Amino acid sequence: MTRPGSEALPLRVAVIGSGPSAFYAAEALFKTAGLHVRLDMFDRLPVPFGLVRGGVAPDHQNIKSVVKVYQKVAEHPGFRFFGNTKLGRDLLVQDLAAHYHQIVWAVGAETDNKLGIPGEEHGGVHSATEFVGWYNAHPDFRNRTFDLANATRVALVGNGNVAMDVARILLRDPAGLQDTDIADHALAQLRASKVREVVLLGRRGPAQAAFSPKEIEEIAELPDVDVVVSPDEATLDPLSAKWLQQEAPRSAQRNVKFVQEQAHKVAGTRPKKLHCRFLVTPVELTGKSGHVTGVRLQHAVLEADASGTPRPKNIDRYEDVAAQLVFEAIGYRGVPLPGVPFDQSKGIIPNADGRVLDAPGGKVVTGHYVVGWSKRGPTGLIGTNSPDSKATVEVMKQDLETGSLLTPGKDDVVEALRTRKIDFVSWQDWQRLDAWEQGEGKVRGKVRHKMAAVDELMTAIRELRGQPS
Ligand code: NAP
Repeated sequence: MTRPGSEALPLRVAVIGSGPSAFYAAEALFKTAGLHVRLDMFDRLPVPFGLVRGGVAPDHQNIKSVVKVYQKVAEHPGFRFFGNTKLGRDLLVQDLAAHYHQIVWAVGAETDNKLGIPGEEHGGVHSATEFVGWYNAHPDFRNRTFDLANATRVALVGNGNVAMDVARILLRDPAGLQDTDIADHALAQLRASKVREVVLLGRRGPAQAAFSPKEIEEIAELPDVDVVVSPDEATLDPLSAKWLQQEAPRSAQRNVKFVQEQAHKVAGTRPKKLHCRFLVTPVELTGKSGHVTGVRLQHAVLEADASGTPRPKNIDRYEDVAAQLVFEAIGYRGVPLPGVPFDQSKGIIPNADGRVLDAPGGKVVTGHYVVGWSKRGPTGLIGTNSPDSKATVEVMKQDLETGSLLTPGKDDVVEALRTRKIDFVSWQDWQRLDAWEQGEGKVRGKVRHKMAAVDELMTAIRELRGQPS
């Protein structure tokens, strides 16, 4: 019998999701010598690239240039794209099993963690996920509203790189965003913004700050913005000081150096401020007439947990910070997909080295694999996904060797999609839209013009199909 992966019987792989981890998995499969692969990549949105399009900030165009690598992957003759095709609505897991030997889940972490404290339901309390999606013209978030015109101070919970993006977009001069691919609706509201202060709330100390040095330093380089830190909060506790001296990575050392340098400066004279607070935990969001008015903070000290990791221990000291808007940037979280196992406690697809398990610690589900944030949780930079996806592809190849595969029929998935009248977006469709977005951007003096509504995107794609490619 012909073995899957040969020229006569290519290995048929479905990849669900089209962000970085999806493309790195495709790349690793296509680059495997002697392996013949036909790979179909699905996305519920009409457009590819996941967080590179919908997450990376518009003033970080250099980071977005990574899509050139993904475009090269898509040129492989075995690659097809099926945008506007949603799992659970247009295709079910059993449909995939009927068409593919292997299925790779690359669905990321679509939602966000919540603080779970009183007052979170007030108007003016938002997740960073919503704000980031909104300014990036992500269809899910295009109708969100952020009352920037009536806020002078914003409290921003968490101090990771998502918080850095949010702080920078809130504080920078919007004139510097007009030639980017920012959503028009966001630029208009940022121009009307009255926000002058962002108070960044870190529950641990400067040595444990989750931001990258480059990201916090970039904010200090904005001509309108001072980064303000109190000398008290910049001082390290003995536990962190010892860790910093003995084993901390260079990034933590650079962060602490930066934070302590800011503490030595006075508040500064620039009109906008990023206040970096440390060792404070929000315990309540206060409000009036249904709208947030501030954050009640409880101060903390650091104590080592059983593994020696410094954790915040709240002390009997409280403080109220007034704010007209609150953004929570305390990490992303995966959402369960119909028919796909889910680990509720970690918010990921349970897996052993990328092989999907039927439950956390359970049995391997033959033919199902996972990559990226849906595999390891929402950590790491875009590049982290390359070795991570390669590792999953290695176990896929091991299973191919042992014949541990799904047993698809002969039909092409296109037949199933056409029967169901799914107007899927092909890679050629996307290339036409991509060219249109860039051309339209040029007319408007920006790198790209993005439409945010799925129906607008689909109308444009249908119109462009009528034109030669
Ligand atoms: P993150 O790096 O995990 O940071 C989450 C932050 O939220 C941490 O400061 C964390 O503090 C805090 N936090 C969590 N739960 C909290 C709670 N209940 N109360 C108060 N604070 C809480 O997550 P992220 O910022 O969402 O970023 C996700 C990943 O994407 C990261 O790997 C990041 O580097 C990457 N990313 C990179 C870029 C870039 O390179 N430009 C941009 C965006 C995102 P603790 O440390 O105390 O838990």
